[in-house]
Amino acid sequence: MKTVGIIGGGQLGRMLAMAAARLSIRTIILEPQEGCPAAQVANDHIIAAYDDAEALRELAEKADIITYEFENVPEESAARLAAKRPVFPPPRALSVSQDRLTEKTFLNDNGIPTAGFRAVDTVEALEAALADFGGRGVLKTRRFGYDGKGQWVFAGEGNNAEAAFEALNGAPAILEEWIAFEREISVIAARGPDGGFVCFDPAENVHRDGILRTSTVPGNISPALADEAKSAASKLMNGLGYVGVCGVEFFVGKDGALLANEFAPRVHNSGHWSEGACVISQFEQHIRAICGLPLIDPVRHSDCVMHNLIGDDMDRISEWMTHPGALVHLYGKAETRPGRKMGHVTVLGDRQSS
Ligand code: ATP
Ligand code: MG
Ligand code: MG
Repeated sequence: MKTVGIIGGGQLGRMLAMAAARLSIRTIILEPQEGCPAAQVANDHIIAAYDDAEALRELAEKADIITYEFENVPEESAARLAAKRPVFPPPRALSVSQDRLTEKTFLNDNGIPTAGFRAVDTVEALEAALADFGGRGVLKTRRFGYDGKGQWVFAGEGNNAEAAFEALNGAPAILEEWIAFEREISVIAARGPDGGFVCFDPAENVHRDGILRTSTVPGNISPALADEAKSAASKLMNGLGYVGVCGVEFFVGKDGALLANEFAPRVHNSGHWSEGACVISQFEQHIRAICGLPLIDPVRHSDCVMHNLIGDDMDRISEWMTHPGALVHLYGKAETRPGRKMGHVTVLGDRQSS
């Protein structure tokens, strides 16, 4: 029986472990937090920091293949593991996506348009970049941002570059052009070791306070736009020699132009609906890809809306439990905190006739 090592013990690791179990594949988690969501369902748990040399050695010994559920895996850890075992997605996907500057540069270099951006390391550079973008933009730390954390929006009036820089503790940052988008969409795609590529239907996503709230499929996305998004994911993943599932987020401008925002070298929150509405989930597709098993065309059998359960949303859990067509999925987190992802619900709608 094969064993997959998963770095990170959150809900994504948990759902990967569940999918692996269905294929008789064992999982072992590396995660410092005891009782974490993934460890509750995985076969084994190494309780240690992601850069603990002894723990990495143990993980490489016990696992046949290594993957990860978050993009901030220390590069050094990925390199140590890759010296002993296949690490998928390839460590290059981590180094490119961990820094918004290298990420956006890589996207552009591979023919995938993004919002305009400038690296800004000083208040003066920020002021100059803001002037270039007409006073509107988003300052983002280059590293470690998620769920809209480490961001500062310049709305065009009362801009205070100094305060923004201080709020981000002077961390290396980029200024991005403000995109008055019509909607946000994402695609979840998988690439196998042989270069085979399959893609889930794109989702239309709504964020509030920088956090994903809902993903709707089908979204308001023309077939041409869907193809464009899939082709961008394919170019990106070919460019990285990618193996596994990847999530790519896009803005659709008022003019209909598609701009990539960022990519996640892992399964993605905006693909959770796949477990309820498709013949295969993004989690199983990822396990198949990294284990060299056949990928399946992820045909969608139902329309759906995925709702994230964040913080206080859990107060309404009893309503969701009786909601028609609602598949409730909870992550086993003991404590509810504001902004914390506690679970999600996929509400199934019309079935596809063929
Ligand atoms: P995630 O949790 O998805 O990794 P993140 O912290 O990396 O989030 P982004 O995805 O860059 O942050 O931004 C979060 C949200 O903020 C976007 O989904 C979008 O709604 C809004 N946003 C980000 N950049 C821009 C922009 N340049 N113009 C307009 N809105 C933006
Ligand atoms: Mg991000
Ligand atoms: Mg994002």
